[in-house]
Amino acid sequence: MSDDCIFCKIVNKDINASIVYEDDKVIGFKDLHPVSPTHILFIPKKHIKSIDHLEEGDSAIVAAILLGISKYAKQIGISENGYRVVSNIGKYGGQTVFHLHFHLLGGRAHSWPPG
Ligand code: 5GP
Ligand code: ZN
Repeated sequence: MSDDCIFCKIVNKDINASIVYEDDKVIGFKDLHPVSPTHILFIPKKHIKSIDHLEEGDSAIVAAILLGISKYAKQIGISENGYRVVSNIGKYGGQTVFHLHFHLLGGRAHSWPPG
């Protein structure tokens, strides 16, 4: 838990979010400014700043996030057409919230390479 972290506040239900997925390690909630018809942020309940700040002991958390994404994508029916998972890291990655999160983007085709 980091006191000044907006995503920790969402984990602790101190601020509202549309939570669509939850297990013991992970929550998934709707992005405030969606860029795709499906735009969900999957985050660990533990405060970790980014992929670059992962420690050896965090491997079960990362697995839980990716499995959660996969389960949720099947549940809402976007698996067949496919979807994109993105995690931005630091300045060049375009990260704006410094609590690890994976964007699940679905419901339309996504081009490559990204901007
Ligand atoms: P980043 O740019 O760090 O990869 O992504 C941060 C994402 O968090 C952005 O897509 C932004 O719209 C979303 N976001 C920022 N603040 C909030 C918030 O308070 N609630 C929700 N639901 N999403 C947020
Ligand atoms: Zn946090």
